[in-house]
Amino acid sequence: MSVTGLPPYDPQNIFARILRGEIPCKKVHEDEFALAFHDINPLAPTHVLVIPKGPYVSAADFHAGATTEEIAGFWRAVGAVAKSLGLEQPGHRLITNMGPHSGQEVPHFHVHILGGRPLGRMLT
Ligand code: IMP
Repeated sequence: MSVTGLPPYDPQNIFARILRGEIPCKKVHEDEFALAFHDINPLAPTHVLVIPKGPYVSAADFHAGATTEEIAGFWRAVGAVAKSLGLEQPGHRLITNMGPHSGQEVPHFHVHILGGRPLGRMLT
C-alpha cells in the first residue's frame, strides 16, 4: 500500500504509459527527473502536468521514497517549466492531489501548473 493509503503503484496507469512512450503527449519539458506535458482537459489557458520519472503514487510516496537528488531535480523542473511558460509573473498555481479525499484520478504523482489568467482564491 502507498503512504497515502492508495493501492501500490500500477505500472499500467496512464502516466506510466506516457513515460514509456506508449501514449502520446504534448511534451513541454523532459530531463533526467521529470516529464512535463499539457493536460488533456485544460482548466486554465496554461495547464501543464509535471511528473517524476520514478514509480510514485503521490507526493507523500515521492517524498518518502525518492532520493534527495530526485526530489531536488523534480522540483527544479517544476520551477523551470513554469518559468519557460512565462508564468513566473504575474503568477500561477501549483496543485497536487493525494488520495481519495483529494479526488486524485491518476495514481502517478503529478503537479498541476495552472496559469494564464487570474485564478481567484482557491483553498479547497
Ligand atoms: P488528478 O485529478 O490530480 O489525478 O489529475 C489528473 C489529470 O490528468 C486531469 O487533469 C486529467 O485531465 C489529466 N489527464 C488524464 N489523462 C491524460 C492524458 O492522457 N494526457 C494528459 N493529461 C491527462
